[in-house]
Amino acid sequence: MQNKQSGKVAFITGANKGIGFETARGLGKLGFTVVIGSRDAGRGRAAADKLRSEGIESVEAVRFDVTRPGDHKEVARHLQDRYGKLDVLVNNAGVQLEDGDFTSGFNTTSTGNPDILRQTFDTNFFAVVALTQTLLPLIRKAPAGRIVNLSSILGSLTLHSDPSSGIYAKKVFAYDASKTALNAFTIHLAQELRGTTIKVNSAHPGWVRTEMGGSNAPLDLSEGGKTSVQLATLPDDGPTGGYFHLGKPLPW
Ligand code: NDP
Repeated sequence: MQNKQSGKVAFITGANKGIGFETARGLGKLGFTVVIGSRDAGRGRAAADKLRSEGIESVEAVRFDVTRPGDHKEVARHLQDRYGKLDVLVNNAGVQLEDGDFTSGFNTTSTGNPDILRQTFDTNFFAVVALTQTLLPLIRKAPAGRIVNLSSILGSLTLHSDPSSGIYAKKVFAYDASKTALNAFTIHLAQELRGTTIKVNSAHPGWVRTEMGGSNAPLDLSEGGKTSVQLATLPDDGPTGGYFHLGKPLPW
């Protein structure tokens, strides 16, 4: 029997490890052709080999740094030449460059280094917007494109401004603001693409034990890719312009 997802192509940025790798694994298991973006070619190849060893056949790695405009053009050319379209873009690569102990309270707003703010926005926001703009013509060629932006609950202004919320006392300013800006991109792009078959959503993966999430995070990596996979495989009547964790909407 033909797998429902076979023939579909997914490009996942920062997929050599962590939540991106887990998302590649999840989509690969569903029958997607998975293109792993990795800024280090060797780490990307190793990730693809690992998935192949688990029985996921249709997987390749491309060397890809999200902050390099030349890499955007290069990957677009590669996807066009090899597949002629892109069904799923998972904007997963991200950085958290500030110090903060997530088990206690902290706030970096008045002490944060402006260079860190700029670097964080370069990776988590400006690069995502530019890459998505570059790949959109290829996504339009797919029958039902899906764009997943890896945000975070820490991008929620509603929760950050609510003294009773769990994140009220945990404020990594550059990271949080970059994810809030990313959420704005989700809403704006989804509105522009209304009336097309393309869906654009923001994902909060949960607090996951990865290099970024740290060892105190409650969620195992096996849980960490679930929201991205769900949003990458939304049915035709699924939502667009939303912000979700495991199918549940989050407040903006
Ligand atoms: P990791 O730090 O474990 O992995 C991040 C990935 O992004 C790595 O593959 C890394 O590559 C890649 N990356 C970083 N900068 C670039 C760049 N310039 N170009 C290309 N790739 C890059 O993080 P997670 O897996 O935990 O996070 C994945 C996403 O989920 C992020 O966007 C994060 O903000 C978000 N998120 C994570 C949460 C968590 O609890 N872990 C919670 C909420 C959101 P390399 O290996 O080369 O460093």
